[in-house]
Amino acid sequence: MTKQVAIIGGGPAGLMAAEVLSASSSAHGISVTVYDAMPTFARKFLLAGKSGLNITHSEDFTRFSGRFGKASSHLEPALNAFKPEDVRQWAAGLGTETFVGTSGRVFPVAMKASPLLRAWLKRLEAQGVALKTRHRWTGFKDDGYQFDTPDGERIIQPDATLLALGGASWPRLGSDAAWVPWLKDLGITIGDLQPANCGFDVGWSDIFVERYAGAPLKSVSTTSDAGTYPGEFVISKHGIEGSLVYAHSAALRDRLLRNGKATLTIDLMPGRPQERLVRDLSRQDAKASFSNRLRKGAGLDGVKAALIRELLADSNQMPAEQLAGLIKALPIPVLRPRPIAEAISSAGGIAWSGIDERYMLKSRPGLFAAGEMIDWEAPTGGYLLTACFATGRAAAAGMLNWLSDH
Ligand SMILES: Cc1cc2nc3c(=O)[nH]c(=O)nc-3n(C[C@H](O)[C@H](O)[C@H](O)COP(=O)(O)OP(=O)(O)OC[C@H]3O[C@@H](n4cnc5c(N)ncnc54)[C@H](O)[C@@H]3O)c2cc1C
Repeated sequence: MTKQVAIIGGGPAGLMAAEVLSASSSAHGISVTVYDAMPTFARKFLLAGKSGLNITHSEDFTRFSGRFGKASSHLEPALNAFKPEDVRQWAAGLGTETFVGTSGRVFPVAMKASPLLRAWLKRLEAQGVALKTRHRWTGFKDDGYQFDTPDGERIIQPDATLLALGGASWPRLGSDAAWVPWLKDLGITIGDLQPANCGFDVGWSDIFVERYAGAPLKSVSTTSDAGTYPGEFVISKHGIEGSLVYAHSAALRDRLLRNGKATLTIDLMPGRPQERLVRDLSRQDAKASFSNRLRKGAGLDGVKAALIRELLADSNQMPAEQLAGLIKALPIPVLRPRPIAEAISSAGGIAWSGIDERYMLKSRPGLFAAGEMIDWEAPTGGYLLTACFATGRAAAAGMLNWLSDH
């Protein structure tokens, strides 16, 4: 008899699981249906395509698989079975060639997600997957799963089910984390969903925001508990944003949680040693204005000079040594992460202790999970999508394994 498999959530993790399950559906006698709450699938994947779709990373695999912090060892088998190189081959198989960009990040040549998603959905249909949009899972009902659909309420009772519902960032694209209390009711431990790869609030003055919101700080380097990274970030009306901030966001968020305060330290002149800055600043006329001292002595103007003034009220009178020290290590006190709805991704989710090596929930046999709803996080750089693909595939393999015994 044909076994029914339901995949709830049609983002990268759910669609990848559907691909694996349907590729072997005739061999295993299963029928696969993907349900999604939204009118179309994979909206966050499409949004990721707006900034080029950083689909994976080309660095050495040991380094790659270590990017997931505490979850690295849990994710390793799934990542090992679907490595970054496999991601590139898979995309190529769907007509999307990729290239290695700066810092090893991998993007489709077309720098968007829509052609890849179109070809992917076509492949799934050709493999017999039933694709159902506007089907919102609303919780467990007895032994089944209850849905709101355009035709009213519906309950399904599949032989095996995969939850691939995503985290809690950008809820308007579909992943609104409504599942958290339903899984908690089953006794499953869920780590609090928190913003990851996010901006931070800073207590800027009105005048600084008025003049500099949107201004980029280019060619700086930044330091936190996460280490030191070069790059650029942006002053926002609430605080700081951008990829260089995201690289520190887990460290800043965790320090705020632990200590109630955290700072991101900026080197505004990474190319110039401190001793030289001291010399150059000392040479300036004592009567020169602060702006001129910074511009002529340290080559700093615009938003970089304004940032020093904003953060150091008494910087005008500062001796050269002290000012040079602050140009090399200017602390920006961050108040709190921006709300999770604005974050690129979320940390937290289903605890690894609650799932077995097949990605099955220990407290509910036959129910599996994949993607961002599991408790892992990673920086930007293609790690997020790769782990979603890889866990989708691992969960699909786990489902096939479990179904073969049931
Ligand atoms: C602006 C932005 C840019 C990004 N850029 C990149 C990038 O370049 N590279 C990268 O690696 N990552 C990027 N990401 C992160 C990446 O998109 C996510 O990590 C990834 O989409 C998560 O995949 P997922 O399948 O786990 O969940 P999602 O993609 O969130 O999919 C979950 C699906 O489940 C559905 N769903 C949720 N609840 C229900 C319900 N109750 N009933 C039915 N369906 C439901 C949702 O509608 C959604 O379609 C970006 C994210 C954002 C927000």
